[in-house]
Amino acid sequence: MRAKGLVVAMDGPAGTGKTSVGKAVAAQLGYSFLSTGEMYRALAYKVFAKNIVPEDHDAVLAAAHALRFTFVRQPDASLKMFVDGEFLGAKLRLEEVGNVASRVSTNAEARRVLTEKMREVGQEGGVVMEGRDVGTVVFPDAEVKIYLDASAKERANRRVKQLQEAGEHPDYNEVLRLIEERDYRDSHRAASPLKPAQDAAVIDTSELTMQQVIDAVLEKIKRYDS
Ligand code: C5P
Repeated sequence: MRAKGLVVAMDGPAGTGKTSVGKAVAAQLGYSFLSTGEMYRALAYKVFAKNIVPEDHDAVLAAAHALRFTFVRQPDASLKMFVDGEFLGAKLRLEEVGNVASRVSTNAEARRVLTEKMREVGQEGGVVMEGRDVGTVVFPDAEVKIYLDASAKERANRRVKQLQEAGEHPDYNEVLRLIEERDYRDSHRAASPLKPAQDAAVIDTSELTMQQVIDAVLEKIKRYDS
């Protein structure tokens, strides 16, 4: 048993509700919630700001080494991330940053650097960690592994709704195209491709409400604990 509780690894493609579900589960357990995608987005943001080509291996690796992360737990269980002392907030959510994140995350050495930083945050447990390779690479010894999935069409629907709620006017076909492009890149890269760990519980969320998914995850955790 780790000092602060279990490591719950929560992986899967974008748009499966990992963040909302992970946060709710962490809050319920008194754990912290970490989105590892935010760390890839932080790297992407720096790469973008410094005009580095995402495929420039050495420059991306140097940028990864230079990142200094600090985290402060929020009342909703999430860990607020500061990068070199700065809170980047909504800048990290831009579609372009997500796209560059998907490109820099093919850099195996930069991944190793970020992976180490993730382990520092989670090693004592008491954490729900969300990403693409948490159960396979970051914490292969995580006590509970969940893989959330949903069809690309359903994920595009959810994303369109989210953007509309934020006052934007997204084009469904374009959103779907970007999701499929990112899925392809994330699951076909040589370094840590997106796939469920052998011992992960796979939950297809296409037909489930958020609460049903949260309950299913809490059930898996309860089963581990008992
Ligand atoms: O989850 P989010 O959409 O914020 O992640 C942005 C990108 O970061 C993903 O498309 C993926 O390429 C990359 N990522 C990763 N490994 C993780 C988390 C995110 O490669 N553990």
